[in-house]
Amino acid sequence: MTEEAATIDHAGVLAWIRRYAAVIEEHRVELVRLDTAIGDGDHGTNMDRGMKKVLEKLDGSEGDDIGATLKAVGMTLVSSVGGAAGPLYGTLFLQMGTATAGSSTLDVGALADALDAGVKGVQARGKAEPGDKTMVDALLPAVAALREAQADGGVGPAAAAERAAAAAEEGMKATIPMEARKGRASYLGPRSVGHQDPGATSSYLLLRSAGEAFATA
Ligand code: ADP
Ligand code: MG
Repeated sequence: MTEEAATIDHAGVLAWIRRYAAVIEEHRVELVRLDTAIGDGDHGTNMDRGMKKVLEKLDGSEGDDIGATLKAVGMTLVSSVGGAAGPLYGTLFLQMGTATAGSSTLDVGALADALDAGVKGVQARGKAEPGDKTMVDALLPAVAALREAQADGGVGPAAAAERAAAAAEEGMKATIPMEARKGRASYLGPRSVGHQDPGATSSYLLLRSAGEAFATA
């Protein structure tokens, strides 16, 4: 087994985005099912349409500026995905892009900084706090796990992303007993209890895709 590299490069980030698009396609029906239970049933189709547009956009992109690529992803999502998730995921990627502007490689600390900035953007835009039953409930534990990996030292990006995915998965499952306080699901009040949040699920998939892509990048 070769030792894991300490950084991921632009190709690693591209592999992450492409992997996420494939994983969203695979999970489209599940995300629709989750959103049908507590929303309007469009989350899987929204995300799949957006990520397919992102793939088209990436095909024509050049250079090795990770920030520029993440910003392009964000802009594509904002302009092609409706509903709440488009602008929120768009903001996540735009802020990650701003945090990584001009970088051609990212170490675990830079990854943590990027996701941290992205989640802060999501919270600034959507005003969701932990416990509101949203994507934030999966993303915040992922940031904490990346910070821990950074503090531990000697943890490469793939292993750190796997830790972040495990934390996001726990956060996703923890949305099941929550009552939604943001987004469409909040209209259901107590009837939103007992269902896993679709956005927290797609956010867990984002981290899982990173772990998978970085492991082979
Ligand atoms: P819509 O609710 O407009 O149909 P989607 O179905 O694509 O949009 O996305 C729903 C997901 O968006 C929810 O499961 C939740 O995770 C997330 N979401 C909704 N509102 C907010 C918010 N204010 N802050 C953070 N996430 C939110
Ligand atoms: Mg919806």
